Amino acid sequence: MKLDSPISYRIVPASPEAHLFEVTMTIAAPDPAGQQVALPAWIPGSYMIREFARNIVRIAASSKGGKVALKKLDKHTWQAVPCAGPLTISYEVYAWDLSVRAAHLDQSHGFFNGTSVFLRALGQEEVRHEVDIAPPPGRGYGKWRVATALARVRGTKAYEFGKYHASSYDELIDHPVEMGSFTLATFRACGVPHDIVITGQHDCDLKRLTADLQKICEYQIRFFHGPRASARNVPYERYVFLTFALAEGNYGGLEHRASTALICGRNDLPYPGMTGTPEGYRTFLGLASHEYFHTWNVKRIKPAVFSPYDLTRENHTTLLWAFEGFTSYYDDLVLVRAGLISVADYLGLIAKTVQGVLRGAGRKKQSLADSSFDAWTKYYRQDENAPNSIASYYTKGSLVGLCLDLLLRRETGGKKSLDDVMHLLWRDYGSKGVGVAEDGVEQAAYAVGGTPARRALVAFFRQAVYGTDDLPLRGLLEPAGIDLEIEPGAAPALGARTGSAPEGVKLTQVLDGGGAQKAGLSAGDVVIAIDGLKVGTANLDKLLARKRKGAKVTVHAFRRDELIARSVTLGAAELSVTAAIDERGSAAARRVRLAWLGH
Ligand SMILES: [Zn+2]
Repeated sequence: MKLDSPISYRIVPASPEAHLFEVTMTIAAPDPAGQQVALPAWIPGSYMIREFARNIVRIAASSKGGKVALKKLDKHTWQAVPCAGPLTISYEVYAWDLSVRAAHLDQSHGFFNGTSVFLRALGQEEVRHEVDIAPPPGRGYGKWRVATALARVRGTKAYEFGKYHASSYDELIDHPVEMGSFTLATFRACGVPHDIVITGQHDCDLKRLTADLQKICEYQIRFFHGPRASARNVPYERYVFLTFALAEGNYGGLEHRASTALICGRNDLPYPGMTGTPEGYRTFLGLASHEYFHTWNVKRIKPAVFSPYDLTRENHTTLLWAFEGFTSYYDDLVLVRAGLISVADYLGLIAKTVQGVLRGAGRKKQSLADSSFDAWTKYYRQDENAPNSIASYYTKGSLVGLCLDLLLRRETGGKKSLDDVMHLLWRDYGSKGVGVAEDGVEQAAYAVGGTPARRALVAFFRQAVYGTDDLPLRGLLEPAGIDLEIEPGAAPALGARTGSAPEGVKLTQVLDGGGAQKAGLSAGDVVIAIDGLKVGTANLDKLLARKRKGAKVTVHAFRRDELIARSVTLGAAELSVTAAIDERGSAAARRVRLAWLGH
C-alpha cells in the first residue's frame, strides 16, 4: 500500500444530527515500540486547559485489517501495541461547542479546529500531514463548500471537499475549517488574496465590509513590511476570515497564522444603506483588526516559551501584556489611522478602556506580568470576584502600549515610537522564527529609545508591568493635546454590579470596599427591597437616586432562598472617564497627534 503522506486523516461530518465527526488517521510507519497518539489539552491563543480529548466518544485501531489494542495512558494519550504499518486509528468526536476554540456540527454547517479533531502522532510531528475532508453523507448537503487557509493538494478545487495538506502537525492544527453553505466574499490586500466567509443568517453589505477590511489589512501589511509591500513580503499566501453571525451580544475571536475565526452579533455587520460606523460595526472591525494584527504579533513574533507550544499542559509566559495588550492597542489605532473611525471616536474608545481598568480594584493587587503568567487559572477562569482580584493584560496591557508609544515619542522628540519597537520585534524575532525572551519586549524598547530614553523606560516598565501603581496616562496624553478627565461617580450606589433576576436584582459582583461588601451582601444575593420598597432592574437606580451618599438603607435579599436583611451605607457610583482634544492646544500638540494618529 502506497501512502502519499507519513500521516494522513480522513474527516467526515458523519452524523450532523448527533454532532459527530468521524476521523480516520493513518500512520504509515508507526513507532515499533508502540505508537502513541494524543489530542491537545489546549488551543494556542486561548490560554486555558480544555482537555479536548473528553469529546472523543469511541476509538479503535487496526493494522492490515486486524484489530490493534489501544491502551489509554492518561486523559489525552493512547498507545497502540507494537504493529507493522500502516496503523489506522478510527474515532468519533462529539462537536457541539459553537465557539472559536473547538468544533461544532449540525445540519446547517460544520466547523473544527484541528486541536479538537486531529490526534497527534508523538515523535512524528514534523512530517507532512494530509487530510481528506469529506462532505456529510446523505441528501441535502449538495450546496456545502469548504473554507480554510489549509493548502490544497493538487486536484482539490478551491472551496471544495477533498485533500489538503500541512508540513507539520503544528501547521495542520493552525488552520480551522468551516464547511456549509456560507457566504463568501474576496478581496486583495497588497496583492494577497483574502476571503471573508460568513456563516449564519445575515443581511451584510459585503461591498462595504470588504472595502473596510481591505483598508485594515493593507494598513497592517504595510506597517510590518513597508509602504511598497507586495505578496512577496507577506508571510502567508492567502488569508481567511471565518465569521459566525450569531444572536445579539455574541463576540469572540481566535488568531491563526493565515486565518481567524470570529464570532459576532449578526447586527454588528454592516447592512445595505447603512451610513457612518455604528458602535456594533466598529466593534466588529476592531475584532477583525485585532485578530489580523496577531498574524504578526503572537503567531510569528511569539514568546520563546511558545516555540514550540507544549500542547499537553499550561505554557506560562509573563508577556501576554505585550502580545494581547499591544494587539489590543493597535486594533483600534489601526482603525483611526486607516480612516475608518474618527479621532473623537478613537478617544472615546480609549476613555472607555481607561474607565474599565480604573474601575477594577484588582489592578492594585496583580501586576500585568503576574496576570500574564496566571492567565490559565485566573484571567481565563474568572469568577464573581474577578474585578477585585485580577488586572487585565488585555485592557491594561493596551494602555501600557499607549503609554509606551507616547513615552517613546516624548523622550525621542518624536523620532521613535512603539511602531519602531514592533518593527524591531518583527525584524529580529518574527521574520527569523526566533522566540522572544521574557525580557525581550523591554529590551526592544530600550534599543529603540536609546540612551536618552533609558531611565524613563526602566522606570515605566517597573511601574506598568511589574508594579500595580496606576499608569501615567494624563501626563503622557497632555503633550498630544488630549485631556483625560476622571470623574468620581456622583450618584449614590450599593457598591455592587447587578443583573436581572425574576424576583428582583441579582448582585453579580460585589466591589471591594463598597457598602454592599461591608454590610455582608455577596455576589449571587437577589435584592428584593430597599427600605421596604420592592426593587427590580427597572427602578433600582431611580430609587437610589432619591437617597444621599452616606445614607443607610435597609436591603432585603434572598440568599439560598433564605431572606436576609442588611443595613447598607450608600457610597458613590463607579467613576467615569472622558477623553477629548484640548481645542486651545498648541501647534506642537497637533503635530504629536498627527504623527501618532495620522490625522
Ligand atoms: Zn488577542
